[in-house]
Amino acid sequence: MSEFDRRAFLGLSAAALVLPELILPAGVVDSAFAANQVVYSIPKTKTKRFAWTVDDGFSSTALGNYLKFAHVFDLKFTFFMPSAYAPWYQHKSQIKDLLQRGQIQIGNHTHNHADLTRLNTAGIKKQLTECHNRIEDTWSYNAKPYFRPPFGRINQKVIEAAAEVGYTTPVLWYGTLADSGPTSFYGIFSKAQKYFQDGRLIIDHANNTIASSQFWRLAQLVEKRNLQTVTLREAFGR
Ligand SMILES: [Zn+2]
Repeated sequence: MSEFDRRAFLGLSAAALVLPELILPAGVVDSAFAANQVVYSIPKTKTKRFAWTVDDGFSSTALGNYLKFAHVFDLKFTFFMPSAYAPWYQHKSQIKDLLQRGQIQIGNHTHNHADLTRLNTAGIKKQLTECHNRIEDTWSYNAKPYFRPPFGRINQKVIEAAAEVGYTTPVLWYGTLADSGPTSFYGIFSKAQKYFQDGRLIIDHANNTIASSQFWRLAQLVEKRNLQTVTLREAFGR
């Protein structure tokens, strides 16, 4: 597909639903837990690769765009899904198809995007179990052991409670495209230039269509740098 065709194909609506999300820089977390339990990067291999993770899905249009991109640009994504949000179910069959082809992975992002550090152990388990069950019911897919704590907020209590319900791999990130709330494509692209590197784990959000409005430019950057995208399952081999 030529670049022009890609752009035409991606003639996307500007409709955006923007919800704020606190994004912490990598490494800024509760000091009470051992950092080696949390994933920030992916192991390096002979192939240059990075893991592109996409959270939330507050915008159905944006989520639909990412699913199209996975297909059109042959990119792999790991999505962290809060199970209370309707857009995931609106794209149910497309997601099923991409899951079956191993092109995307779905991870647990709690039921309603709760700050897990504010809950007790039972509450933490309930959030993760509710999300787990809905993913399983919808796609017959087991999201364990990967979860991302909303807002990147995590502590030892969260790590232990999550592990008790099978979520033993908390996933944070090395770099963010900083697009959970208001931004510009220029802002996103400059973050992509900084963070699309070998071994990186990137966080992105399907909350508005700013990134996806010029997605071909992000795809071009991946290609130019000879990078492959991998899901976390592929990156960690489990
Ligand atoms: Zn989130």
